[in-house]
Amino acid sequence: MGAGIARDAALRGLSVALVEQHDLGSGTSSRPTRLIHGGLRYLELFDFGLVRSDMRERETLLRIAPHLVFPLAFLMPLYRRGPFYRLKLRVGMLLYDLLSLDKSLPKRKRLGRSETLAAEPNLDPDGLGGAWRFYDAQVPFVERLVVENAADAAAHGALILNHARATGYLRDGSSVVGASVEDRIAGSILEVHARFTVNATGPWLDGTLAPLRPDPRPLLRLTKGTHLVVSRATEHAHVLFAKRDGRLFFVLPWNGYTMVGTTDTDYEGDPAAAEASSEDVEYLRTEASRAFPHAPFDRIHFTWAGVRALVREEGVAEGEVSRKHKLYDHRRRDGIDGVLSVIGGKITAYRLIAEEVTDLVARRLGSKARCRTSELVLPGAARAAPATADPLCLHAATTREEIVQAVRAEWAMTLADVLLRRTAIGLAACQGLDRLDTIADLVGGLLGWDPARRAAEVAAYQREIAPMRRFSTT
Ligand SMILES: Cc1cc2nc3c(=O)[nH]c(=O)nc-3n(C[C@H](O)[C@H](O)[C@H](O)COP(=O)(O)OP(=O)(O)OC[C@H]3O[C@@H](n4cnc5c(N)ncnc54)[C@H](O)[C@@H]3O)c2cc1C
Repeated sequence: MGAGIARDAALRGLSVALVEQHDLGSGTSSRPTRLIHGGLRYLELFDFGLVRSDMRERETLLRIAPHLVFPLAFLMPLYRRGPFYRLKLRVGMLLYDLLSLDKSLPKRKRLGRSETLAAEPNLDPDGLGGAWRFYDAQVPFVERLVVENAADAAAHGALILNHARATGYLRDGSSVVGASVEDRIAGSILEVHARFTVNATGPWLDGTLAPLRPDPRPLLRLTKGTHLVVSRATEHAHVLFAKRDGRLFFVLPWNGYTMVGTTDTDYEGDPAAAEASSEDVEYLRTEASRAFPHAPFDRIHFTWAGVRALVREEGVAEGEVSRKHKLYDHRRRDGIDGVLSVIGGKITAYRLIAEEVTDLVARRLGSKARCRTSELVLPGAARAAPATADPLCLHAATTREEIVQAVRAEWAMTLADVLLRRTAIGLAACQGLDRLDTIADLVGGLLGWDPARRAAEVAAYQREIAPMRRFSTT
């Protein structure tokens, strides 16, 4: 979200600094289900406005990031259950289409039983009546969406401070006038002065806005969602309902593998420490195996878990909390000028939320420049794809040139930044472990690491991916 806001503001000619405590995209934004979607499930919550607006954004992202966001065909298998169930799915599919009548993606289609089994032979045939086929979109490498927003912000004059943590607000009476920032690589402290500050710290928000808010009640409800990455198990993307509790979950083609997700359980603690539990893994594996009895869901490569930052609602189950974002205006709520916080919001809506935030900031700063982010493609869409004749890792088509680009032009400062959030090496089954020395030599050479720093970087990468590999069986 922060990178999207920085891009929007920089494109309007504002002078911008983006501050990230760890690595760009290392928070929730690198841990979602990676769908750009209206969210069929939100129809059940009667969130029609949210679904409509997210599906418009889906079109926008397909247009401005055609190299990162792709159409994805889904099947929703139909089993012989009561007429109410069938009617509910029919109405859901109809609404999903009606709310996106102006879309470029194909419309829904009802498939018969044999057509469904021909498309997805591994589906449980017992009681199968057919399936709905519909289209949504996927952003397989969501990390690059963040980096390219930051890159475009920088190309329009923004200052990007990566591995730099905002440690406090600079105050002038009842106004915020910037932040003190700790450069965590250099170990220095600096002051970033600003006429307006936006706090877009996702699931960290309650902690980062505490100094501005006398009310100690949290604004967020945090829920954890886990994903499994297994060897390729299905042909298509599927929307399924868990037998155990009726929850909707996905089985998706991703990066040459199959991803299963997600869970939704209340979470407390540091969002960076979220990881899959054995209950999560057992739940997803069991439910996926029930849907595809002959597919290999026991070959787990790795897992990831993310923490949703939802606008706090009490007294409802985790899955029923709205995914709609809110802006928290500290002037109106706490009498503090010069600062705004963003609560919640999906990746799908990141550009629109950034537009809403920047509209408000621009108004406060007296700028009349209009938003251009829905018109201008992200930088990677214009760049020629690098040759992959000499990939560094057998499992990912990453080249040396991409690593050089990551370090020289994309603020990668650690081995984990390069492997997990600039290139796809860390998202391959081996997670780069079989070529770690070669890659560490290359990155270390570019960043001038001595042997001790190189060894520390290798160890830090292994520590960072250890929670992802805890359930690995390959
Ligand atoms: C399990 C799961 C599945 C999801 N699936 C989808 C999906 O399929 N589609 C979809 O559209 N959305 C999905 N989402 C939602 C989406 O991932 C999030 O809404 C989105 O990533 C939030 O972005 P953000 O920038 O607000 O938060 P983050 O990505 O967490 O960014 C906040 C950043 O602030 C930084 N920060 C915190 N404190 C400081 C500080 N003091 N100084 C400097 N920096 C700081 C953090 O390091 C972090 O990088 C999913 C979320 C989860 C958890």
